[in-house]
Amino acid sequence: MHLTLHHLKLYKPTKTKLNKIELLSKNWNKAIRSALKIVKHWGFTAYTKSHKQTYRVLRNNYKLPSQVANEANRKAVEVYKVNENSNFNRIVPVRLVHKKSFEIINNEGKYFAKILTPNKDKVYCPLSFGEYQLNYLEDDNYKIKTAQLYKSNNEWYLDLTLEYEQPKRDTDTTLGIDLGIINLATFSILDEDQNILHTEHISGEQLRFKRMRYKQKRKAKARSSGSLKTSLIKENQICKQLNWKIANRIVNLADKYNSKIVFEDLKNIRKNITNGNTLNNYEKNNWAFYQLKQFIKHKANLKGLPVEEINPKNTSQTCSVCDQKGFRSEYKQDFFKCANGHILNADSNASINIAKKAI
Ligand SMILES: [Zn+2]
Repeated sequence: MHLTLHHLKLYKPTKTKLNKIELLSKNWNKAIRSALKIVKHWGFTAYTKSHKQTYRVLRNNYKLPSQVANEANRKAVEVYKVNENSNFNRIVPVRLVHKKSFEIINNEGKYFAKILTPNKDKVYCPLSFGEYQLNYLEDDNYKIKTAQLYKSNNEWYLDLTLEYEQPKRDTDTTLGIDLGIINLATFSILDEDQNILHTEHISGEQLRFKRMRYKQKRKAKARSSGSLKTSLIKENQICKQLNWKIANRIVNLADKYNSKIVFEDLKNIRKNITNGNTLNNYEKNNWAFYQLKQFIKHKANLKGLPVEEINPKNTSQTCSVCDQKGFRSEYKQDFFKCANGHILNADSNASINIAKKAI
């Protein structure tokens, strides 16, 4: 496993520090219940949707640090997805993210936790732990990711998650990925002299078809029972499974060809999707690309393969053969034609250009 867990104890916090930490834990737990009410009311099963409704409320009412408010929303959706009638009366550890709501600081060999607490306050507290934990904390290959703050037998603990970061490999080739609607992912592998070693498409057909079906089912179901939840979860699962499969395929190829993996910057992808035909409109603002990218990054990281993001400017309007300007054929969207008369598959062309930008 590439994650390790470490129990650190907050060492003799003063009364003032204890009060602040108690308040953080108390408000965090209240915030989850408050968010859960909103999530239940709207039937939210996606964090991003409920976030818009909960974030301000949690920030204003419980004065939580930004990331902790986000996390309370996430927790509420998780609880709701497991049991939509849950009132959630348990007290749970506060979820913290490194450099967002807490930080481990090494001050001349002594370790401290800096924890953000409600009302824009913070606590610095020395930590107590053994030799074993120290070895991990001082190993540069382990990066601090998250922590859970909780009380046990009248003592406060931070459970720290460290992630092992595989040293990055020296790569020989470059794998460029073009994300789109007709083809969900098109990727091409180029060597250092820009020879194309491999190119492949993964079609969006399967996903689109299933989504349409679930959309219709959902409408029918909503009419009869008023519950949208089951089919929404199914739809998300299909998307997740497909993204997992695509990520596996891409990272396994990159492993085989010893490739650096190159993406377009996602902000720009979103922009491109919105100005298009009805299909594009239907799928606009899709978080699926974001998820796919996270999966690929995660898998690439485990194999020590570097991932790079490039500005996608002109990658779809330039001919990958002669570098002349060109355009997508108007009657057949998946073809690209340049001023010199090269006719190419539009998605392959873009993925080759994306790889070229990073060589
Ligand atoms: Zn050309």
